[in-house]
Amino acid sequence: MTSIQFLKGVGPKKAELFGRLGIETLDDLLFYFPRKWEDRRLRDKRELSSLLEASPVIKGRIKTVRDLYTSGRLRIFKVIVETRYGEAEASFFKRHNPRFDVFALLKKDLKEGRTVWITGTPEDPLFLSRLRADEYYPDDDIRALRIHVGRIVPVYPLTGGLNARFMREAVYEAVKAGAEGVGDFLPAGLAARRGLAARDLAARAIHFPENNFELVQARRRFIYEELLLLALAWAIKRRQTRSVRKGFSYEIKKSLLTPFRENLGFSFTAGQARAINEIFADMQSATPMARLLEGDVGSGKTVVALSAMLLAAENGGQSVFAAPTEILAEQHFLTFEKFLKGLGVRFALLTGRLKAAEKKKVLDDLASGKIDILIGTHSVIGGGVKFNSLRLVVVDEQHRFGVRQRAALRAKGDKADMLIMTATPIPRTLFLALYGDLDLSVIREMPPGRKPVKTAESTEDIAFQAAADEVSKGRQVYIVYPVIEETQAADMKSVKAEFERLKLFFKGRRVDMLHGRMPGELKKQVMADFAAGRTDVMVATQVIEVGIDVPNATLMVINNAERFGLASLHQLRGRVGRGKWDSRCLLVAHARAGDSPERLRAMAQSSSGFELSEKDIYIRGAGEILGVRQHGDMDFKLADMSRDKDILAQAIEDRELVLAADPDLVKKENAGLKRKLQEIYAARWNLIDLS
Ligand code: ADP
Ligand code: MG
Repeated sequence: MTSIQFLKGVGPKKAELFGRLGIETLDDLLFYFPRKWEDRRLRDKRELSSLLEASPVIKGRIKTVRDLYTSGRLRIFKVIVETRYGEAEASFFKRHNPRFDVFALLKKDLKEGRTVWITGTPEDPLFLSRLRADEYYPDDDIRALRIHVGRIVPVYPLTGGLNARFMREAVYEAVKAGAEGVGDFLPAGLAARRGLAARDLAARAIHFPENNFELVQARRRFIYEELLLLALAWAIKRRQTRSVRKGFSYEIKKSLLTPFRENLGFSFTAGQARAINEIFADMQSATPMARLLEGDVGSGKTVVALSAMLLAAENGGQSVFAAPTEILAEQHFLTFEKFLKGLGVRFALLTGRLKAAEKKKVLDDLASGKIDILIGTHSVIGGGVKFNSLRLVVVDEQHRFGVRQRAALRAKGDKADMLIMTATPIPRTLFLALYGDLDLSVIREMPPGRKPVKTAESTEDIAFQAAADEVSKGRQVYIVYPVIEETQAADMKSVKAEFERLKLFFKGRRVDMLHGRMPGELKKQVMADFAAGRTDVMVATQVIEVGIDVPNATLMVINNAERFGLASLHQLRGRVGRGKWDSRCLLVAHARAGDSPERLRAMAQSSSGFELSEKDIYIRGAGEILGVRQHGDMDFKLADMSRDKDILAQAIEDRELVLAADPDLVKKENAGLKRKLQEIYAARWNLIDLS
């Protein structure tokens, strides 16, 4: 590996700056891909393309130059250029310095009569021929014409001390020195099947494409590589997880399951029944369960999880149920009390709020096996909690649960079964890419009698009037705002400010506030008051997005609805429509933001998370929720799973071909794939089969 220091113009100082970008070797630099590409060719050569950003550039003979002062201490160097398309003007700006002429170099380089290229930003979007100048190059500088102007130019993420121009030069040198030798690691058959560009050509063209076509090909090549490796890594991870033997077996005794079902007061929906069957089959199998249960908000995942925990309890095993917040853990505890009444199952709640003595008792009971089911936040599965015989881990409402978290959990749970539950439905391909080591159960229908939440766009006045009407009927209302404090964002309404206003508006009613920065005790109190019907109106942030279950709440008002992603809007809406009354969700947009009209329309048209998830705008918004980036399982240079769906589907298909013919990647043609997998995923995902 050649150190970056051997590159022309890079000494120890610059090398350190490169280090900040994670670039240590020439190879790192070669694979430091651009963030975008600017088309710096002259107007008549430009190509229209979604990848190319047309960047202002002028070329011509310098007609006049002028050195100007402004009234302040600013100096302007103005150049008038005769171009093929008429006269253009470029201005360089600098602060005056009394000790030397800040424009000395410009005056030397930009003499009248010379032909030059100048890049910059338009001073006015309407007059592209008037630039605030940035870079300039004489037309006889052949090197500059290869790298900086008159071509498609790469734009890189930078750090202080490394400017765009220097970076381009450095990458250019790295490409010259290294692109030809990058070698290919894909089996020839796959590359041919997908018509991929040769890797060495792509390594050049991704930085310095001759035209749009080359760029598209190069990008596709590297995106495919990244996604194929991901797909393979999942398959190997999956195999690894399932090669473990649990060493205990289950019998469906029904000593708890039958009374539980009889207690419920309703029967399972077909989807719930199917999910329970799938989960039970996993639990009875010799290898640990790793399953994702996907079901829209309100589809009844909790009782499915309870069934699984009771099966474990029937067989003398302990379960843990982990919720994302303390409020939700407490809510679940209450739900469990209701459903497990009289069954003789021992369950306990463990949260940070327990007194030391209470906490110790729970921990002792857990360790000695006196507790069957532990309810807590996600921290209970990470912390120093000791179980007697942990057999089942249920993680509720968790999308940010990456490979490593799953592995850590497994390590704790003596080969425990694992069930992760989410209310964010995602299309199949995306599921395979995000949770490729998990099996999937889906609950598609809602419990009977559930009415869709009528959703409409609304004005604030109408929404508040509707809220007042609901309250006067004895119902309860949520009013949601995007931020806590006014100061967080100028164009968004805040919980705190609006709370004061709403207290006046709902005079004589009980209005309360809930947001993430309140002390835990207070949040708990506020929630309990609302759940018990002591509060009429809850003014809140998105904290109420998951899990809260108050059947008497019939109206959800979402302010600055344009600010919320489709997935979040749908989650919020799921907080109402849980009782016997008709429920509504009113979306109050205070401005237009990005594709917000599209989002709000989609919300009004569909009440199903599954239907919404078919829409692109949902996936884009779901990105944050799914926490692809947060959990750090994957770290792509170019690929983007929601955008590159088609390439992802190809990669998954090709993975099947590769593994069907060579499950352990021992054939010579797959040696390159195996090496790359080792490089990228072996440590990150602890893929032992690869070493
Ligand atoms: P989620 O999937 O969003 O976690 P919950 O498990 O909280 O949904 O269930 C929502 C509500 O529906 C709860 O009050 C639950 O008791 C109720 N419920 C669950 N399954 C059924 C069913 N089959 N029939 C009727 N009500 C059900
Ligand atoms: Mg739930």
